[in-house]
Amino acid sequence: MAGTVVVIAHPLVQHKLTLLRKAETSAAVFRALLREISMLLAYEVTRDMPLTYVRIKTPLAPMHAPVLAGKKLVVVSIMRAGNGILDGMLELIPSARVGHIGLYRDPKTHVAVEYYFKVPEDIAERDALVVDPMLATGNSAVAALHRLKDTGAKTLKFVCLLAAPEGIAHVHEQHPDVPIYTAAVDERLDAHAYILPGLGDAGDRLFGTK
Ligand code: URA
Repeated sequence: MAGTVVVIAHPLVQHKLTLLRKAETSAAVFRALLREISMLLAYEVTRDMPLTYVRIKTPLAPMHAPVLAGKKLVVVSIMRAGNGILDGMLELIPSARVGHIGLYRDPKTHVAVEYYFKVPEDIAERDALVVDPMLATGNSAVAALHRLKDTGAKTLKFVCLLAAPEGIAHVHEQHPDVPIYTAAVDERLDAHAYILPGLGDAGDRLFGTK
């Protein structure tokens, strides 16, 4: 099955992404922009949520009005940078449940090592949005998606800010059923598996740790 990549080309997303990329953007501004972009990403990735109709009364007349058809969502953050996307998404989808997967990249091998895993007990009844700003080698994404499939998550979407062609290929190879949503596809990885031109280390920029 061929994998899907959806590039969210909305002008507001693209403008804010450029501000995020700039080396001189402070941690405070980076955090605020990431929150704003994440709301816009949430808007796009939930576009296909089914609606049902209920009978309501406006002050003037009764009508059949659309509401979400009770679809249950879980947003799963790949820590730590995923938490930056999670916060914005929850502003738009406050009733979504939340999962966390702690993965760090071994600095030499770039292999994803799990140190934390907590997801809602009823994850098998939920559609999962897996969030991590940077899809670089794809090792963390692939590991997180395997883990979530093992727990029975119903359907999965992977949502990031920037994707490298290498990461997309890796996810498509291992999880061709999982669509990737991203604001941009960058050129390539550097020798340290950072995305070029990218925006640097998303976690460090978000939390001001460097
Ligand atoms: N993780 C980051 O934070 N940045 C990259 O460029 C790649 C992985």
